[in-house]
Amino acid sequence: MSENILQTMGQQLGRRSWAEPWKIKMVEPLRMISREEREKALIEAGYNTFLLKSEDVYIDLLTDSGTSAMSDRQWAGMMMGDEAYAGSRNFYNLESAIQTYYGYKYIIPTHQGRGAEHLISQVAIKSGQYVPGNMYFTTTRLHQELAGGIFVDVIIDEAHDSQNSHPFKGNVDLDKLEALIKREGAEKIAYVSLAGTVNMAGGQPVSMANVKALRELCDHYGIKVYLDVTRMVENAFFIQEREEGYADKTIAEILIEFCSYTHGAWMSAKKDSLVNIGGWLAVNDEPLFEELRNLVVVFEGLHTYGGLAGRDLEAMAIGITESVQDDHVRSRVEQVRYLGKLLTEWDIPIVQPVGGHAIFLDARRIYSHFPQNQFPAQTAAAELYLDSGIRSMERGIASAGRDPKTGDHYYPKLELTRLTIPRRVYTQAHMDVVAESVRAVYDDREKTLGLNMVYEPKYLRFFQARFERL
Ligand SMILES: *Cc1c(COP(=O)(O)O)cnc(C)c1O
Repeated sequence: MSENILQTMGQQLGRRSWAEPWKIKMVEPLRMISREEREKALIEAGYNTFLLKSEDVYIDLLTDSGTSAMSDRQWAGMMMGDEAYAGSRNFYNLESAIQTYYGYKYIIPTHQGRGAEHLISQVAIKSGQYVPGNMYFTTTRLHQELAGGIFVDVIIDEAHDSQNSHPFKGNVDLDKLEALIKREGAEKIAYVSLAGTVNMAGGQPVSMANVKALRELCDHYGIKVYLDVTRMVENAFFIQEREEGYADKTIAEILIEFCSYTHGAWMSAKKDSLVNIGGWLAVNDEPLFEELRNLVVVFEGLHTYGGLAGRDLEAMAIGITESVQDDHVRSRVEQVRYLGKLLTEWDIPIVQPVGGHAIFLDARRIYSHFPQNQFPAQTAAAELYLDSGIRSMERGIASAGRDPKTGDHYYPKLELTRLTIPRRVYTQAHMDVVAESVRAVYDDREKTLGLNMVYEPKYLRFFQARFERL
């Protein structure tokens, strides 16, 4: 809708609402199973929402990863897949979209984000080197550790406080980073692993001022900055909204400026880029690119397909272009905020300010009557499913895993249950139903007991761990 029509409507109604910049052409029916069936399904899944069957789920807020609805243009693009083993036309379309909107020179497609994380970690980390990051992401940190790296959290302290309303809670604390560099020496730092937005902190953004200052500091010590651009489009929206000097810039302009302060990036295109599968790695340094391009053949596939079909590359190229449109990003973030606003009005503890892709329930404050090693966030996810068939995910002690040195759990300050909103999939009425179910779980909190972990896999345990009610 044009700005003018919105303005006229706004004047008439005395307010201006946002609305999705699309209409629905095809629908997928939903179904809700009975309370008894949900109880049975949950026990069979070991109280782990990752182990539920999708058929048993009503509204699926497990993740925004690969769950977006594609547009008619993307589906049409899939029919234009050039399934050649080498040099597919779709690869060049993807390469050009990434160069145009993210600004990096050399592109390597991968089957998804962790494929790219694996390659960059193997090439850029020497065993025993530190990898400072603005908090961590599960697969990112694991690949860094598997390459012999030691993760160090250098995010600002505000990020660990779920009620702190700092506008850029994803920022790097440059003092913490410089102290690490001075203590260990620049040669002991593999690179800075920067993410925008920070998923584990609640989808919190990094400011342009922060990335600029970070780059200056790193240039001073000769250290590279690599960016996890998975939700960088959403990060750009927050810069446009909150940072001085950016209100009149487009999302696309902000995105490319931000990326210009970094040396390279990896992407899980299953998030921002509106596709069901795909990822990439991009760098500006030619010798580094040569090395990565060699390695991708070993683990993913030839460097012009990276484990994907030509049609997937095409859907990604089109998805990138759609993802940077201002009206798309606005409606995306506003839908998340709509849910956040309802919960906030009902005094349910959630991470504030609301981030770009999800609502994070503060499970520690919901279940203040039992300790963190009884899995409050896992419990809230289980209760929500029992109440209404809504699937969410744990982002707390189970996701944090164990310290490889001591063998004890990591005890993260944030113990959160994530309700992640897929892009272009659910309506505002679905958000109302979700909010009401969260309220029912919250109202029952004092009667709820915690969980005990009865099966623990070695890697990324939260995906497959099993629990029993205490
Ligand atoms: C999802 C995600 C990844 C990993 O990507 P996959 O496509 O799931 O392999 C990396 N970083 C962030 C921030 C993510 O959200």
